[in-house]
Amino acid sequence: MATFKAIRVDKAVKGTTAALTEFDEAELMEGDVTVRVECSSLNYKDGLALTGKAPVVRRFPMIPGIDLAGTVEQSSHPQWKAGDKVICTGWGMGETHLGAYAEKARVKGDWLVALPQTLSAREAMAIGTAGFTAMLAILALERHGLTPESGPVVITGAAGGVGSVATAVLARLGYHVIASTGRLSETDYLKGLGATEVIDRNELSAPAKPLAKERWAGGVDSVGSTTLANLLSMTRYGGAIAACGLAAGMDLPSSVAPFILRGVCLLGIDSVMCPVTSRKLAWNRLASDLDRAKLTEITHEIALDQVIAQAPQIIAGQVRGRVVVKIP
Ligand code: NDP
Repeated sequence: MATFKAIRVDKAVKGTTAALTEFDEAELMEGDVTVRVECSSLNYKDGLALTGKAPVVRRFPMIPGIDLAGTVEQSSHPQWKAGDKVICTGWGMGETHLGAYAEKARVKGDWLVALPQTLSAREAMAIGTAGFTAMLAILALERHGLTPESGPVVITGAAGGVGSVATAVLARLGYHVIASTGRLSETDYLKGLGATEVIDRNELSAPAKPLAKERWAGGVDSVGSTTLANLLSMTRYGGAIAACGLAAGMDLPSSVAPFILRGVCLLGIDSVMCPVTSRKLAWNRLASDLDRAKLTEITHEIALDQVIAQAPQIIAGQVRGRVVVKIP
C-alpha cells in the first residue's frame, strides 16, 4: 500500500478531530493531475477546518489545506505534464475535495495556474489565498475606477493575511493607506509595509450611522459586520469597498444610504470559484506589484507537524501576516 504524510480531519462523536497521519494513496479523490506538494499556507478558513469552529469541511475523512504550490507528478490533462510548477487555491480543496496539507494532492487540471516564473513555490504560498484575495479586491477597485488620486483607501484586519498583502500592494501602487487594526502594537509593522496611517479598529466597530463623515475613496474589508457598515457610511461620494471577509461576523447591519445618496458601491470578492482568467491576471499582478522584501517581512514558515497547533491562533486573530507551511 502506497501512503503519504497528510493531516487528516475525521468526524468525532462530538465535533471533529485532526491528526498528522499516513494517508493511503488509493483514497485520493478523482482528478486528472497529481501534484507533489512543496508548500501550502495557513488561512483563516484552514483554521476553521482544523479546529472545527465552523462547518467548512463537508466530507470525511478530509485533508484540509486550501492552497498548494508544487510540481506535477502525473497528468492526463492536455495542459499539464510531469515537472510543471503549479499553484492551486480554492475550488473546494480542504472543504469538499482532499486538500493541501499532504505530500500529494490529486486535483482537476482546470483548477491549476502555472507558477509565475518570477515566483518560487514558497513565495506563492506566502501570498496564498489571502494574498490572492487581496489582489482580487484591488483589481475590483481598479475596475471601479479607483486610482491613488481618488483619495485614501482603508484596509481592515490590516495585520492579518489579506490585510498585510493589501497594505503592501496598495502602498507600493502609491495609495494613501489607512490601516485599521485591533493590534496597535503592530503599528511599526504596518508602517513598514507602507501604511500612511494606522487606526484602532474600535473606531469602526460601533453600530454605524447611515452616513458619516467621508474619510476614504475605497477600501478592502476582511472583517464584515458593523465594521463593513462603518466603512460604507464613511466612503466618499462615488467610492467603493471590496468586501471579502467575516472575521467579526457574517451580518451587515447597514442601510441603503451610502448606495443611494453617495453612489457608493459594495464589491463582492470570492477567491474559491473565481474563474481561471481572473486568477492568471491576479497572480501576474502579484508577481509584479508585491515587493518581495515586504513579502518576506510578512511571512513566517512552519512545518506540517506544527499546523494543527497554529490553527486556534489564526481564529483568535493572533497570527501576523502570512504563514507558509513547508511540506516535507
Ligand atoms: P487572518 O486571521 O490572517 O486576518 C484576519 C484579521 O482580521 C485579523 O488578523 C485581525 O486583524 C482581524 N480580526 C480578527 N478578528 C476580528 C474581530 N473579531 N473583529 C475585528 N477584526 C478582527 O485571516 P485572513 O487574512 O486569512 O482572512 C481574513 C478574512 O477574509 C477571513 O474572514 C476569511 O474567511 C476571509 N477570506 C475570504 C476569502 C474570499 O474568497 N472571500 C478568501 C480569503 C479570506 P487586526 O489584528 O489587524 O485587527
